[in-house]
Amino acid sequence: MQTYSISIHGGAGTILKEDMTPELEAAYTKALDDALTGGYAVLEEGGSAVNAVKAAIVILEDNLLFNAGRGSVFTKKGVQEMDAAIMDGKDREAGAVAAVRNVRNPIELAAEVMRNSNHVFLSGKGANDFAIKQGIKLEPDDFFFSQFRYDQWKALRDSDNYSLDHTHQGLEELMKDKKFGTVGAAACDINGNIAAGTSTGGMTNKKFGRIGDSPVIGAGTYAHNTTCAISCTGHGEPFIKAVAAYDVAAHMEYKNMSLQNAMHEVVHKKLLELDGEGGMIGVDAQGNVSMMFNSAGMYRAMQNSKGEKIIGIYKD
Ligand code: ASP
Repeated sequence: MQTYSISIHGGAGTILKEDMTPELEAAYTKALDDALTGGYAVLEEGGSAVNAVKAAIVILEDNLLFNAGRGSVFTKKGVQEMDAAIMDGKDREAGAVAAVRNVRNPIELAAEVMRNSNHVFLSGKGANDFAIKQGIKLEPDDFFFSQFRYDQWKALRDSDNYSLDHTHQGLEELMKDKKFGTVGAAACDINGNIAAGTSTGGMTNKKFGRIGDSPVIGAGTYAHNTTCAISCTGHGEPFIKAVAAYDVAAHMEYKNMSLQNAMHEVVHKKLLELDGEGGMIGVDAQGNVSMMFNSAGMYRAMQNSKGEKIIGIYKD
């Protein structure tokens, strides 16, 4: 019988138990559980992998704990510019948006690009115009405000530094607050179709219209039924250079590797050659799940129809 499964992440980086309070840890665990449950419910009802991925990501985007949708970080200009992508492994249809503003759920907009445009990748004002035309839910700037994100940005805004949401870059105090991240999901449905999606506010204090790996098909997000569906998180630039998500698929296709071994090769070798800190989650069409990272931690969770369920934050 076909195994169905879902895996999600809420970002990777310097996530250490000693920096965490029991309350915060409980809040993260619950947030991951809520998103996992939302996505898994779609699969249990016989829904598609794409819909499961969307459902899980919408829940994460609506949660202020994560750097996506509502909880997105501030850019150099003090606004939120969000990136997202989704890909259907069944037909390799894909949709992506970059630097969109005021969109409540960028993953919904990416899905709209995938299904209802002739394009794959829209950016900036054009993507926002498309959102309005398609009736995608928008929210005022206030909706995206949170004090801790603002404080994170305040500590960086007068510098040329930009920062990965959870990674220490010499700013000891700021580090304490950096426990929030990009979100993503990958799912395999009852029909053996797989899909992946990723959504992010990017990096604090980013400028010049910087776009990370998350919405770049093949870099931060990729899905093809013959190999795997992958969503990445980490320092976007090396992930783009490594074409990280697709490289897992390539190792599976050309070297006949399992999902687990292919992901190990990319996360622990290929990315490290480029100082690519972070991780990824993925599924294959048999419902196998893999979650790996080369950073101190990664918010992650998985559930499958064999009764397995894992929620993790730190290295085991
Ligand atoms: N990969 C994202 C980016 O570089 C950041 C993250 O995963 O937290 O935009």
